[in-house]
Amino acid sequence: MKRITSLRALARAWPVITSAGVTLLWTVAGCVPEDKPVSETWLAMGTFASVHVPAPDQRALSHYAGEARDLLAELEELLSIYRPESELSRLNREGALAAQVVSEHTSRVLEAATNYAYLTRGAFDPTVAPLVRLWGFNNGRVCELPPDAQAIESNRRMVGWVHLVVSNRWAKFEHAGMSVDLGGIAKGYAVDLCYERLRKLGARNFMVNLGGNIRCAGIARRNGSWKIGVRNPFRRDRIVGTLSMSNGLAVATSGNYERFVEIGGQRYTHIIDPRTGWPVQGMAAVTVLATTATEADALSTGLFVLGPDEGSKVVAQLGDCHALFIPDQAPLRILITPGLRRYFTPAAEYAGSIEILGSLRNFK
Ligand code: AMP
Ligand code: MG
Repeated sequence: MKRITSLRALARAWPVITSAGVTLLWTVAGCVPEDKPVSETWLAMGTFASVHVPAPDQRALSHYAGEARDLLAELEELLSIYRPESELSRLNREGALAAQVVSEHTSRVLEAATNYAYLTRGAFDPTVAPLVRLWGFNNGRVCELPPDAQAIESNRRMVGWVHLVVSNRWAKFEHAGMSVDLGGIAKGYAVDLCYERLRKLGARNFMVNLGGNIRCAGIARRNGSWKIGVRNPFRRDRIVGTLSMSNGLAVATSGNYERFVEIGGQRYTHIIDPRTGWPVQGMAAVTVLATTATEADALSTGLFVLGPDEGSKVVAQLGDCHALFIPDQAPLRILITPGLRRYFTPAAEYAGSIEILGSLRNFK
């Protein structure tokens, strides 16, 4: 996803940012117009943020959106790698020289990130930053040729989450040249924070969305759970199916179409396999449904690296966590973990393309 920095850019990039892997559906059968949830949208953390509540609770909406807006602004100040004065930028500059005292939020995101790095055996790695920059993302330079093996190897040596030490309010790197990129988890963390704040304020029915990282509470309309469309990565105007969500469930998607560079006529996605140093090839999109947005965000990135076979094993170790994989190949295939069947309804045209992971049965 492109980084959006102004409302004008938002308007220009609208087709891009609405293409986050999930989309919000109000036009479901049986939904009368006055049932349509109301929402407020603004720019935060380089993408668009929104809060939705069932109609017609406009006053509650303004209150909740105001709270979420303040929280996201606070987090952006701490975690943005685009702001030289942010806590994360300071850690990246000085964390190899001495342990840095960090805020509770930064400490919690870093701890969560190392937890998911452990769980995915380093496929998700918050210290992947040097490789992300090498390939031309996050203010890196896009070259005419892919980086050579030596450049990849020397940057890969600076990557390793086990050398990021995080302990209750301080963090440090064990090697010079290391740095952290929280682009694969910070938005999910931010959504959880907004969700918890709104719950504390007494909100029951609402949805928070930050660039496709979504968490839902209660219902969207009379008797209705929140309906989230999962985008077809090859036809961005189509969805492959719908997720029915409520009770605090969260969803996130990582896609090869969200952000990429073109080198020598070939596209390279923004998700890097820390084991090889190369952008991931072979996956088009991974959607993860989980009990927190932090988990959904980190795992959608980590499972994108691992692919369906290894990725579904990670999911099987967790509680209420499910995944959907779309390989980068034609014809389109949709591979889902068994537990996702409870939440996912495929679009009619894709019903025959569903395969259940760990089983030869087709979707029933
Ligand atoms: P997402 O869109 O949530 O999948 O996050 C992708 C972003 O996470 C990229 O733009 C990078 O900033 C960062 N990233 C890339 N590769 C990895 C990785 N293997 N582990 C963790 N973060 C990554
Ligand atoms: Mg992610």
